[in-house]
Amino acid sequence: MEFEQFCNLLPKIELHAHLNGSLSAFSLQKLGCSNEQISEYQQLADLQATEKTLNECFKLFKVAHSATKNQQSVYLATKYVIEDFFNENVAYLELRTTPREEQNMTKADYIESVIRAIKDCDKNIIVKLLLSIDRSDDLKCEENLELIIKMRQKYPNVIKGVDFSGNPYNGTFDPKLFQKARNCGLFITLHCAEIKNDEEVEEILKFRPDRIGHGTFLHPNFGGNDSIWKLYLDTNIPLECCLTSNVACGTAKSYKQHHLQEWIKNSLPFTLCTDDKGVFGTNLSKELGLAYQYFSLTPTNLWEMTQKTVSYTFASDEEKKVLTKILQDWKVKNHF
Ligand SMILES: [Zn+2]
Repeated sequence: MEFEQFCNLLPKIELHAHLNGSLSAFSLQKLGCSNEQISEYQQLADLQATEKTLNECFKLFKVAHSATKNQQSVYLATKYVIEDFFNENVAYLELRTTPREEQNMTKADYIESVIRAIKDCDKNIIVKLLLSIDRSDDLKCEENLELIIKMRQKYPNVIKGVDFSGNPYNGTFDPKLFQKARNCGLFITLHCAEIKNDEEVEEILKFRPDRIGHGTFLHPNFGGNDSIWKLYLDTNIPLECCLTSNVACGTAKSYKQHHLQEWIKNSLPFTLCTDDKGVFGTNLSKELGLAYQYFSLTPTNLWEMTQKTVSYTFASDEEKKVLTKILQDWKVKNHF
């Protein structure tokens, strides 16, 4: 089997995908974006990660937000994103999104629309929802968490966790808030060390979230320091690694100089993710291909990474068994 074909056909697990940023230009077109918006979106999304600027990426997020301003478009957007992941053989998807309020839509309506699309999905893919708390929305964090907890009680099999995201230059991590979420049975994944902010990183690691996103400035060779790295090693928290996103946002200098190499070298837990595949013009199969190209991860390495990722998911034990079996059967069927 050709390597590209392997990456596409492997039953994959995606744990870090933001709903709006995952929309393809084609989906945005179906959601009513103008031809002008679409051609600009496509052009920017198709640029190589190293050629993009952060401002251009933000422009793309704005287009996606403008296309999902009512319940029907949020429902359809969720449906399209799930179908795109399914079409590249993602078997398990944790989709994340920040509940958004618009003129004719409350945050609860927004969540209900996403959940309806997940429940209506008739494809062979397991989908779970993580709700994000926007760190820029400091004053509303508590209120947003209350809503998440309420919705979780209504949909315990779909809403599995809470994420902390948004502009890393704004807001601060509040362990009390996330402890409250944890006490209500929610799993916690936090965007961590996207920028250099040792004090916050230390607090996040001491809180011991179930997973962290990015983890860019942790290792001393990548802007971290010895005590932060030691703390990370003690916690051994699985990393959601988003290669293209980090290169496009300029937090990693290049694919080759990406901090993932420290995780590989030290056999630390990680999984490859897309972050915002629409905005960054990627998909999970391509990210696997990049890990092969730049870090020599073989098909066997990538299969094993996926197999280990099963235990990092927020799925039920029963669902984890199903995923393990899918991967085992696939390996046997494809003789490798
Ligand atoms: Zn992210």
